[in-house]
Amino acid sequence: MSTAVVQRPISRIESTRDYPGDSQVNAKRIVVSFDAFERTDPFIMLAEDWFDRKGGFDTHPHRGFETVTFALEGKIRHRDSKGNEGLLEPGDIQWMTAGRGILHSEIAEGEEQVHSLQLWLNLPASKKMVEPRYQDIKKEKIPVLPIEEGEVRVISGKFGDVLADTKHHHPVTLLDVALRPDGRTDISIDPSYRIFVYVLEGEMKISGEQVKAGKVVWFDPTDGESVIPFEAATDSRALLFAGPPINERIVQYGPFVMNTREEILQAFNDFNSGTFGE
Ligand code: MN
Repeated sequence: MSTAVVQRPISRIESTRDYPGDSQVNAKRIVVSFDAFERTDPFIMLAEDWFDRKGGFDTHPHRGFETVTFALEGKIRHRDSKGNEGLLEPGDIQWMTAGRGILHSEIAEGEEQVHSLQLWLNLPASKKMVEPRYQDIKKEKIPVLPIEEGEVRVISGKFGDVLADTKHHHPVTLLDVALRPDGRTDISIDPSYRIFVYVLEGEMKISGEQVKAGKVVWFDPTDGESVIPFEAATDSRALLFAGPPINERIVQYGPFVMNTREEILQAFNDFNSGTFGE
């Protein structure tokens, strides 16, 4: 008796949108947009930014979610109201739980332009007011699993026998998939998870579809076990994000992501009265 491996069906392939620079960034690309949360839950948004010391993100608050920041190129200096400070270097990732509230800044350090990605990951209502927390994930500490003509870096969650030690309030699998010519691997993710794959470099065949850099492949929750085959004919790189939908109404206003309008007003009140710190 043989068991056929089912290929997980793609739900949709989306394009990114590019925006001109402003006082903060030299250029911005929206990979996952704020405006369709029911289709992206538990992911709120993903922005790709290019900025230097003329701009960056001066002190600002967050409440009710987590940010996952990738320094792809350049160095990012971060400081916050809890007295934490650190430098993200190329390849490093920072997982910040804003929780009940934090004030922080994200500024380019040195002369090189920063090229970054920042994911906003929602928290369930029961976790929105947890204590803030930082995890600085240094490049050299990320587990790497070799595959056929390539490698998978396990930033969060599990791939094969490798389990990242990244802590979660809401479970998320985060994989960095690099393939050389003729590289391939099958990735199996819990069917109840929503997944998106952002192709950063090159071109890959993902679940049977040819996908170029700059495109985003979405997989909605499904039934039964399946795999996502990745194949490449050229040097290619993609990030895979996966997590179970939270299925709660959200209200987002600027840097706050809560469940009700009242909670947004409370966030403004708390911020104005100084409870986020200084
Ligand atoms: Mn921020």
